[in-house]
Amino acid sequence: MPEKQDLKSMNLEELRSFFQTLNAPSYRAGQVFAWLHRGVSSFDEMTDLSLSLRESLKKTTYISSVKIVRKLTSALDGTVKYLFSLEDGECIETVLMKYSYGYSLCISTQAGCRMGCGFCASTLNGLRRLLKPSEMLDQILMASVDSHCRISHVVLMGIGEPLDNFENVLKFLHLLSCKGGLNMSLRHVSLSTCGLVSEIYRLMDYRLQLTLSVSLHAPNDVIRSTIMPVNRKWGIDALLTACRDYIKATGRRISFEYAMIDGVNDSPACARELGTRLHGMLCHVNLIPVNPVKERKYRKSRLDKMERFRSIVAKFGLPVTVRRTLGADINASCGQLRQAAQ
Ligand code: SAH
Repeated sequence: MPEKQDLKSMNLEELRSFFQTLNAPSYRAGQVFAWLHRGVSSFDEMTDLSLSLRESLKKTTYISSVKIVRKLTSALDGTVKYLFSLEDGECIETVLMKYSYGYSLCISTQAGCRMGCGFCASTLNGLRRLLKPSEMLDQILMASVDSHCRISHVVLMGIGEPLDNFENVLKFLHLLSCKGGLNMSLRHVSLSTCGLVSEIYRLMDYRLQLTLSVSLHAPNDVIRSTIMPVNRKWGIDALLTACRDYIKATGRRISFEYAMIDGVNDSPACARELGTRLHGMLCHVNLIPVNPVKERKYRKSRLDKMERFRSIVAKFGLPVTVRRTLGADINASCGQLRQAAQ
């Protein structure tokens, strides 16, 4: 028997042509699309479809879903961290955060990661597999049903490197912003990359309205190559040239992430070097205290050191903030819950 098709990963056009093969009228595609993106888990909930159509859908397709394995809620700020399992038992993490502007969900794009960043828990056991578009949507659907809230913002900053799963992420973004589905403006979406330069150029060609976040974490190649292996392929010059080209093409501000690691990248000299490199760019710099991972030796920078760093970078005319840490009591930075469950 042919493998069942993943219905939720299809866009409307694909659904329409699929319905043709079932001899069903094409308007059914819109109905099914709406049901799927409302988060139904069975065909029997699709009450406006004929019984025979439901039966043939059951035979040929499936509705993907995620299951909650663990759920931790922060006593400090209400941040919720989910460990979800996928159909094949792989686990991923998703974090729900409350901000003044609404609820933001941090989703995973891969099970594991092959980028090898030295401070990150998600990459400890390498890449298991890519997530399908449906599995990215399922994280949003499950989190909003479970938490009874409307998620207004999505950040692709969970487990995995989104640009290392380019086609599926692009399809997910398309589905997420579809009128008949969740209808989320891509202005409410951020995509974070460790700096796959070729894929930044590929993304640029789509001129999406999302915010590109670049995990920079160091002001020069010597430091960056020690903590981020990707830098040995594309150094900082190539990365920042790509960022400038991206800003020019899309008119969108880039957000640079900088995890502050005690004694590694947090000196005043590093701050000056960073300021000099980024000076004049349409960007925002986010300083984050590195979250210690038990398998790694890195420690957080002290707050006074971070503040000093911030004020030096600010002197270069760059908007720079020390990011508020949410869910500090539940280890909300991604990868650690999954690691513990393995
Ligand atoms: N692969 C993508 C997105 C996932 S990681 C990327 O690299 O951007 C999301 C963010 O968390 C990245 O900025 C990453 O560098 C950062 N990060 C990973 N481990 C961290 C840790 N232990 N402490 C602080 N930030 C961390």
